[in-house]
Amino acid sequence: MYLSELTLKDFRNYKDVKISFSPQINVLIGENAQGKTNLLEAIYVLAMTRSHRTSNERELLTFKKEQATICGTVERKLGKLKLELMLSKKGKKAKVNHLEQARLSQYIGQMNVILFAPEDLSLVKGAPAVRRKFVNMEFGQIDPHYLHNLSQYRAILKQRNRYLKQLQAGKATDLVLLGVLSDQLAAFGSEIIARRLKFLAKLEKYAQDIQKSITCSKEELTFEYESSIAEVAAKTVDELYGTLRQCFADNNKKEIFQGTTLYGPHRDDVRFLINAKNVQTYGSQGQQRTTALAVKLAEIELMKEETGEYPILLLDDVLSELDGERQTHLLKTIQNKVQTFLTTPSLSEITRQLIDDPKIFRIAHGK
Ligand code: ATP
Ligand code: MG
Repeated sequence: MYLSELTLKDFRNYKDVKISFSPQINVLIGENAQGKTNLLEAIYVLAMTRSHRTSNERELLTFKKEQATICGTVERKLGKLKLELMLSKKGKKAKVNHLEQARLSQYIGQMNVILFAPEDLSLVKGAPAVRRKFVNMEFGQIDPHYLHNLSQYRAILKQRNRYLKQLQAGKATDLVLLGVLSDQLAAFGSEIIARRLKFLAKLEKYAQDIQKSITCSKEELTFEYESSIAEVAAKTVDELYGTLRQCFADNNKKEIFQGTTLYGPHRDDVRFLINAKNVQTYGSQGQQRTTALAVKLAEIELMKEETGEYPILLLDDVLSELDGERQTHLLKTIQNKVQTFLTTPSLSEITRQLIDDPKIFRIAHGK
């Protein structure tokens, strides 16, 4: 799939622009603070309905404006799609072919994007929350059921945590109600874990091949799902449901004492291992970078497998972060198959030689 056209109104430092893109590689060149990342962010928000760099959506509206609009035309195998996202201080509205979507979980997935920025190193180096977010965002895009289960899970988790706090403070005593909330949480939680395991296994295969090819077969990359509950590998949804329920029942007292839910997918993590050693703790800077790159490139293939089409790739300032060999590998992987937007302060001659026929945009002051 590719984005053929984008219109922005009052989005960050873009007042009113309409841009046509190449289905291949689009290079956004500009000095610092001109709007390169803002443009990638707009494409990301159009796909995901939320930003990758802020959870405060007011920041996306141009200073002193009440509303921002992002419209895009996406060319998919089945035809053209018009996507429209309106952001305002009151909330957001999403339309597909002029029809307003009742739920954002229905809208997400119409256009698939993968973003890769230097901060993505934190995918390997960062806290578990970073990897959970990654897993949720990526798997949510390819599976609407995943997103649906996740939003239900979050709603019940909130209720259950509130209730655990009341129990902790002695303001409530009804353990039957806690049991009901635990069952509901276990139901959605088991679906989430099962889907994570399924997608991670597929992602691992692709990432393994990529890691091998970048490192000339010297490094074997593996993933490990680290669950807050007992062993989860190879369990069915029903078995996971049973395990989660049991875990809540066994740890009732502990959770009331702490006033919060200690078990479930919101506490899980994914580990990346190279030759059976955790990259986070033992990997060199270069290995961590290669792993992050391999995981991101693997996502491209996973999305293709799951949706039948390649996603759109957004690369924010990453070329300069990669050495020559990894740059070449990256560009070879995407060339002629993945629509790519890449930002850079300047394009080196070497990089230019690697890219076939790029469409180049010069960005200054949101224009
Ligand atoms: P760099 O090369 O440093 O990464 P960039 O071109 O990626 O730069 P962006 O992050 O896209 O820069 O744009 C930053 C500019 O956008 C800043 O000048 C900032 O003041 C402006 N900006 C950010 N948010 C808003 C907003 N809500 N309204 C208007 N302008 C904004
Ligand atoms: Mg930037």
